[in-house]
Amino acid sequence: MYVKKLKAFSKWPQSFLGLMSLSLFTFFLFFNMHKEPVRIIALNLPNSAISPDDNLNVYERPDIPDYEYKIRPGNSLSQIFSTLDIPYRDLLRIMEADLNHLRIDTLQPNDVLHIWMDKKGKHLERLELEFSITSKVKYIRLEDGSYHIEEFSIPGDWIKTIIRGEIKGTFSESASFAGLSYNEIESVTRLLKDKINFNRDLRVGDKFDLVRIDQYVEGIPSGENEIQAVRIESRGRYISAYLHDDGNYYDKNGESLQRAFQRYPTIKKYRISSHFKPKRKHPVTGRLRPHNGTDFAVNIGTPVVTTGDGVVLLVKDHPYAGKYLVIAHNKHLKTRYLHNSKIVVREGQRVRRGQLIALSGKTGRVTGPHIHYEMLMRDRPVDPMKAYIPMINEVPKEEMVQFVQSSAAYDVLMNREESSNPV
Ligand SMILES: [Zn+2]
Repeated sequence: MYVKKLKAFSKWPQSFLGLMSLSLFTFFLFFNMHKEPVRIIALNLPNSAISPDDNLNVYERPDIPDYEYKIRPGNSLSQIFSTLDIPYRDLLRIMEADLNHLRIDTLQPNDVLHIWMDKKGKHLERLELEFSITSKVKYIRLEDGSYHIEEFSIPGDWIKTIIRGEIKGTFSESASFAGLSYNEIESVTRLLKDKINFNRDLRVGDKFDLVRIDQYVEGIPSGENEIQAVRIESRGRYISAYLHDDGNYYDKNGESLQRAFQRYPTIKKYRISSHFKPKRKHPVTGRLRPHNGTDFAVNIGTPVVTTGDGVVLLVKDHPYAGKYLVIAHNKHLKTRYLHNSKIVVREGQRVRRGQLIALSGKTGRVTGPHIHYEMLMRDRPVDPMKAYIPMINEVPKEEMVQFVQSSAAYDVLMNREESSNPV
């Protein structure tokens, strides 16, 4: 079933006809295939696909942004807005809409901004951030001047690749030669570091095999990928890791290869002043105002600790979120800590579970001092007080049958044919 979803185009005079030649039209095509979830594919149609009716003196204006801008190193959104004479108030209201998502702070060089101004050219009507061909965020101006945020992601097609390699020199050299990126090599070594000593135990001729899935959109790799299984064969011994449905890696016996988390971002337990409520409605406007984290009522200066091992991904100062930081625990899991008075770690720093990362405060828009703590699983907020997944050390009993089946299937993929692998 094909359903085309077109934007509602506003009517514009014919003098804008010339604009049409400037751009291709991008439509989103929604369709269902088998039992897969809805997929969204960007489709570029040639100009000729739309032919305005000569009898009309108005026609549907194509959805061309007024500005398109590729982020360069050192750019900030406020700098770009001021160059374009967009009022600072609009920027603040965009930041307000972004409070529960904090996507603007993740903008990086080469990400693309699309900007639509209102008819008078005074206010920002719509802003789209394009993080990749599969990930977009839109901010749309409402009548009261605030913005509504929408996130889009395109699932694309995930294609399985088997990567095989043999140890010649160090593991890093051999893995890089086999086609693994620096980040992938690092995650594999960290994952298996308690099972094998990568400096001492490996010998020339030892083998490694990985199952990786790569994302494609219309045949183009998006750059997103995920290691699903890895196995190292060292002198007749197999060491392996398998990705389970919960986003964590486990060994052959279903035991977690990552250190468990602690529940609270504090040393002592404090009162929860506001719970995770993703569907919370604003009491006056009735608009959805999600609370994507858990709030702890604490005094200013209370130590804030990381709930798991990881790397400090971002340290930011936000008009509404205040001084906050993001920790990446693995490819799938992040935590955020908002409204601090002081942050004591820096971007790129490696941290251990329970390590002091900040002192609590009341920066940003708050009614009183508290810690707002969020957990993001594959960039979606989950209840950090209920998410059992990263707190456990092994695959839950009721999921074990499925885990054994899927790990066996990965083993089949990683097995080598005698003939293709002459000794
Ligand atoms: Zn909160």
